[in-house]
This record gives sequence, C-alpha cells and structure tokens, in this order.
Amino acid sequence: MARIAVIGAGMGAMAAAARLAVAGHTVTVYERGETHGGGVGRFARDGFVFDTGPQLLHLPAVYRDLFVKTGKESLEQSLGLTQVDPAGAHLFPDGTAFALPNASRAGVVRALDEAVGPGAGERWSDLVNRAREAWDATRRPLLEEPLSADPAERAALARDPYPAPRRRGLFRRSAPATLAAVAERELRDPRLTALLESHALAHGLDPRTAPASATVLPYLEQTFGSWYVAGGLRGLADALHRRCVARRVEFRFGAEVTGVVEEDGRAAGVRLADGTVEEAAFVVSGAPDPASAAPPRPGRFTVFLALRGGRAAGAVHRTVVHAPSRDRELAGVFDAAGTDYVPTVTVYRPDDPSVRPDDDHEAVTLTATVAPHGRVDWTDGEVVAAFADRMLLAAEAAVPGLAGRVLWREVRTPADTERVTGAPGGGVPAPALSGGEGAFLFPSNSGEMPGTYGVGGFAHPGGGLAHAGMSGALVAGLIVEGAGFRGSQ
Ligand SMILES: Cc1cc2nc3c(=O)[nH]c(=O)nc-3n(C[C@H](O)[C@H](O)[C@H](O)COP(=O)(O)OP(=O)(O)OC[C@H]3O[C@@H](n4cnc5c(N)ncnc54)[C@H](O)[C@@H]3O)c2cc1C
Repeated sequence: MARIAVIGAGMGAMAAAARLAVAGHTVTVYERGETHGGGVGRFARDGFVFDTGPQLLHLPAVYRDLFVKTGKESLEQSLGLTQVDPAGAHLFPDGTAFALPNASRAGVVRALDEAVGPGAGERWSDLVNRAREAWDATRRPLLEEPLSADPAERAALARDPYPAPRRRGLFRRSAPATLAAVAERELRDPRLTALLESHALAHGLDPRTAPASATVLPYLEQTFGSWYVAGGLRGLADALHRRCVARRVEFRFGAEVTGVVEEDGRAAGVRLADGTVEEAAFVVSGAPDPASAAPPRPGRFTVFLALRGGRAAGAVHRTVVHAPSRDRELAGVFDAAGTDYVPTVTVYRPDDPSVRPDDDHEAVTLTATVAPHGRVDWTDGEVVAAFADRMLLAAEAAVPGLAGRVLWREVRTPADTERVTGAPGGGVPAPALSGGEGAFLFPSNSGEMPGTYGVGGFAHPGGGLAHAGMSGALVAGLIVEGAGFRGSQ
C-alpha cells in the first residue's frame, strides 16, 4: 500500500483522504492553516455561532455515500441533518413575496400561481422538467465519471443538454444559449426571471453568460432538498475530519506545501515551506493551482449579525431579498462597475438554539455574491462598511426592525476567503456545467505529472460542497483502480 500526500484539508481533500485510507493507503494531509474544513469555517463570539462558508447542503447523498463507504456510522448518525422547509422565501422590489416549500413540485406551482399569477407555476414547472432532462442526460459524464484532458471527451460536454420547449407542431425550437435567454423566452415574468437567475448568481455564475444547463441548479434544490446541519454546516467538516482521523489519516497543520517533488518523471513527494521533503507515491492537491491562468471568480460578502430579541415564531430559514436593479448588480459583480449598488441579499435565520446564547437573542447571517478581491479592494474599510450597511438595509424586508436589534456585526469579504482558502481573489468556484462550449468545465482530476491528482472546487466537477465530495470519490477511484476507473456510482 502506498504513502499518499494530500495538500490542504478542504472538503474535497478530506473526502479523498478518508476513502484512500479505507483502501489501505497511508495518508497524510498537509494543511497550511491551523484547522480543517477550508472555506467551511465557523465564527463564534458571546454565545453566537455562524458559518463562514456554505449555509445549507444540497445533494446530501454524496456525503451519505462517503460515510457509508468509510465507516460504520452513517452521515445521519454522525451529525444532525434536517430539511429546511420552506426551502426559501423570495421578496421582490415590487412587493411580491412567496415562500417555496421544500422538495414539493406541486407546492411550488401553487405558491407561484398565487403570488405571481395563474400560469406562472406551470411555466416554472415546465422549465424545471426540461432541466431534469438536462440533468439526466449529463449527470454521469459531468459529475460521476472522471473527465480527462482529451478534447474529444470534453467536446461531448461542450454541447448544452437543455432541451428547447416543444411547440404545438412537430418541431422543437432551437435551444437558447444562455440562462438569461431561457428566462426571457420561457418564464416571461421579471420575478420568475429573478428567481431563476438568483440560483446562478448564488453560485457565482453570470446568468447573461451561463449556459442554459444552469437550470439544473434550481432543479437540484427543488428535487433533492435543502439541508441544515445542527450547530451549522461547519459540523459537516468536523464530522468528516473525525472520520478521517478514525481511519488513521494523519493531519499536519501549519504545513504549507510549496511544490511537488518529481523523480523519474512522476510524483515522489511534496516539499514544505520549511524546506523539508515528505516522500509519497501519490500527491493529491485540494489547493487552488497557483499556476492557473483562469481569472478569479466572484466571491461572497457575508455579514454576521448578533441580534437582541428572540427569533420570531414561523421565521423562514432562508429568505432571498432580490436586488432592486438586476443590471446594476450584474455589472457590479461581473463587469467591474464598482460596489455602489444594492445586491441580492440572502438572509439566513436558522431555528437552532445552539447558535445563539439564549432564546432572547438571534444569530442572523446575510450573504451576497460579489466581485473578487483585487477587482474591488475588499480591505478598504469604508467600502466594506458601506456595502454591509446596504445589505442590512435590504435585509430589513426579511427581518423587520433589524437595524434596531443589532448588538454587533462582523463582516467577511473575499479578501478573508483568499486568506483562508488560498483561492485567487477569494473566488468561490461554481459547479461544473455542460454547454457553453466547454467553458464551464474544470481541469481533469489526473494531473499532467503522473502520480498527481486534483480534488476540490478547482478540479472536476467544480465547486460546492456536494461537488467537492464527488471529486474526492473520483480521485480515490483513480488511485485505487487506476486510470481505467470510470466512476463507481
Ligand atoms: C464564503 C463561502 C461561501 C460558500 N457558499 C457555498 C454554498 O452556498 N454552497 C456550496 O455548495 N458551496 C459554497 N462554498 C464553496 C464550498 O465551501 C467549497 O467549494 C467546498 O467546501 C470545497 O472546498 P475545497 O475542497 O475546494 O477546499 P477549500 O475550502 O478551497 O480549502 C482549501 C484548503 O487548502 C489549503 N491550502 C491551500 N493551499 C495550500 C498549500 N499550498 N499547502 C497546504 N494547504 C493549502 C487551504 O488553507 C484550505 O484549507 C462557499 C465557500 C465560501 C468560502
């Protein structure tokens, strides 16, 4: 059995490490920071607890599989997992408001018909049905199988699988190229457009350029649900770390890897910042590739609010307060047009006593997708304070009286994410998508140097908790079964 060096203790890296250890390998994780989890962090003060990364989990099946394959206790036995219902409320600048039930197609149709008008639910539902066709057509090659660097293999995923709606006659119209075009042609209502586009934006994707196949993002949420981990999503990182330790994965914190050692044309170990060399037969990197030429991706601006006054009965876990001007927001996030706009703000109000000091207080988190650090100087205190102020003002729509309840607030920007994960500009990678001429695919899990592998958000199949877990399964399969591995699910 081989010695394997894993770079970084992010979720993708830990998912690979646990699986490789179970296969009998000797696995060491070298993490430059002082804790595991990467972007899945926790901030706690005065009895208030906040997630610094993802706030909800989608596709829990990926982690169920990981826990089943790496030990006795299932995911559900390892942490408290509950579905969030309603999945989310949406508030629009014109006063329209609706809440969408979790994983209930019929309930969603009803809610949209009532709030937006008769027929709205059916138009949305038809779109989600087509998204399911796109999902079914590409799920395996896009997410569950390794993707080589071979242009021919990639070309198969460069075509958009999102089908054009059928017309009354025999012919399908040509499929629209972008998510924005899908919205305009098939939803025909600015609120439904905002609903669809908010899913893309939440993943850092520009709806004006994202392929039509990005419709799978709301399909996934609506079909497989939105899940909360008791105590916060950081609990998932803790559980995975515990699982790794139980499988004898060794963690070295404060250990930055500065290079891969090559011998006879293949990986032979890693070099650490202190100059020492650690031998390994395989090197798995869960760190962003410093040599990547890809421009930084959008990041997240997050405001943690410690509030006096208890959580209102019936408060919704997640509320999306849509931006007053879509064009100004997209220009700000993607076109370097500054920060002087009101973003789409997602407000999280978990009904969880363990994240607040007592029932007379509430922990609330606001997030927005923003331009990466560098395009905006997110270390400029005035810019940061003004942006946080605007988010608070917008969030009043979801939490009336919010400003008067704030005990203190703490802000995290893409500059902080860059520090914690090493991602250029603090960008958060989106999940891989087919279509868009292959521009939304990620580098192969097998590195150019034999014996090296990429895992986590910057490798196939891209970013997000679930996708990082999938990449861990792919890399473990490639190492254990060899280059012929075609996916195990
Ligand atoms: C603010 C924020 C919000 C997010 N929101 C969502 C969301 O809503 N939904 C969702 O699904 N996903 C979300 N994500 C993304 C999700 O958290 C990640 O895609 C997922 O956790 C996978 O991370 P990863 O495996 O790529 O590792 P990362 O989290 O990127 O961690 C990389 C690790 O590698 C370490 N490292 C880097 N370089 C080196 C080196 N040279 N040597 C040693 N160690 C190194 C870093 O210190 C870090 O610990 C969010 C992320 C952030 C930051």
